Amino acid sequence: MTLLMLCCCALSFSAGTTRRRGSCRGGLWLRQNQTSTSGHTEVGRCFLVFTFTAADTIYLKFSLLFFLLVWVSEIMLQQTQVATVIDYYNKWMKRWPTVQDLAAATLEEVNQMWAGLGYYSRGKRLHEGAQKVVSELRGQMPRTVNSLLKQLPGVGRYTAGAIGSIALGQVTGAVDGNLIRVLCRLRAIGADSTSPAVTEALWSLANTLVDPERPGDFNQAMMELGARVCTPKGPLCSQCPVQSHCHSHRKVHVKQEANSRKLLGKLDKKPSVLPDIEDCMNSGTCPLCPSEPWDDELGVQNFPRKPAKKPPRVERTLTCVVIRAGEEGEDEYLLTQRLNKGLLAGMWEFPSLLQEEKSSEMKQKKALCAEISKKLGTRLTDSLLQHVGEVVHIFSHIHQTYVVHSVRLKDGDSQTQTENAQWLSKSALQGAAVSTGVKKIVKLCDSVHGQKDETTKASTSEYLFLKMYLTLKMTVPTADSACIIHVCCSRSGWKKTKDRWRQESSDL
Ligand code: SF4
Repeated sequence: MTLLMLCCCALSFSAGTTRRRGSCRGGLWLRQNQTSTSGHTEVGRCFLVFTFTAADTIYLKFSLLFFLLVWVSEIMLQQTQVATVIDYYNKWMKRWPTVQDLAAATLEEVNQMWAGLGYYSRGKRLHEGAQKVVSELRGQMPRTVNSLLKQLPGVGRYTAGAIGSIALGQVTGAVDGNLIRVLCRLRAIGADSTSPAVTEALWSLANTLVDPERPGDFNQAMMELGARVCTPKGPLCSQCPVQSHCHSHRKVHVKQEANSRKLLGKLDKKPSVLPDIEDCMNSGTCPLCPSEPWDDELGVQNFPRKPAKKPPRVERTLTCVVIRAGEEGEDEYLLTQRLNKGLLAGMWEFPSLLQEEKSSEMKQKKALCAEISKKLGTRLTDSLLQHVGEVVHIFSHIHQTYVVHSVRLKDGDSQTQTENAQWLSKSALQGAAVSTGVKKIVKLCDSVHGQKDETTKASTSEYLFLKMYLTLKMTVPTADSACIIHVCCSRSGWKKTKDRWRQESSDL
């Protein structure tokens, strides 16, 4: 509480002077002005020195916290929309509010928290970064864009620019997907936006445009402009605050003007005063000029231009849901852990085998069965594996189809297991470090097994109904059939017959 009050005091002390970069820089201001205590009494000086020291500590803690908040959010927001991230972000920061807390967590806990957010290596790298900050950098965060790039795993050029400008006040641009779109449209850059020449041009433009006084705010404002106004489809040019600077917007008008002149039969006698990007002096050799012709229908959406996407790799994976009856009566599933590198590193999944084109499905089923037997220390035959269905899951670069089988073990079959394998109940599985693909497989099994249960229930009640009906009919041959059916339906629970009986009772 005292610290908080001192912090407020320190910040309000700085409020009337220079707070260009937001209140979090108040402590910095104090640090820079520690010599201004002359004229105070000794007691007052001591108090102020103490206040400054406390403010420094608070500033340090606050800036570390702010750094962590920006770092985590920027990593989570890579390839993921804000709406999806919010929940994960809140839970994450609640569980690991400091970099030390995060460093002390296990990879398993990190994967568990990240489950469902996709691109799992991001969580792993964030964790590695926190451990590095604590063990190698003695709890100090990198203070420049270059050191961010060099010292933090998983931090690329954009993330370093974003963290550097937002958390550290570094004067640097931050070119993400939104910025690429906005800048390509503003400058009518029509060459492939992923080419090295365009990438460098965009970074140079972003570094030139960034506001040196408020780089973080400027970069965030540009991202917001891209996300809300200059959107990929249906950009709101009429509401755009930078419309008057926008080359592609002007180009649309030039084209429209030319088209309407043509329509009216007035061929241009004097050329338009507005420059056309196609008039580029270096046209033909310019690495930023459009590589494809202008499409009138697309308007400003002619920019940016992207290369044709590579089709995703197609893969099929044979997977088996191994089930046993748990001690609590709830079914338990066998999960195995993936390797600590590559796709879904360290995550848990059902025993699986990537299908090879050359090998037959039967052969691979046998191989999967042998793998499971090895894990369980028992012998299973592939004929026990029941085909359940298929689940499709799209990763960014892989079109994955899981060919799902299941097997229910007898008591003696499930006692032993090897390292990197564990049994989890369904409720534990929902909160474990498993991918969305695994959750889809559980859903498929539930729906198929649920249908089977219904069929079993229906056939059992039908059997009970018939048995009761025949017994009653033989015992009391004169009894009214409708009454017997009614009684048998109620007791056997065979709803179908009950419904049918309602329809047909008049005939009986
Ligand atoms: Fe984007 Fe239109 Fe604004 Fe240009 S005027 S920056 S195309 S929204």
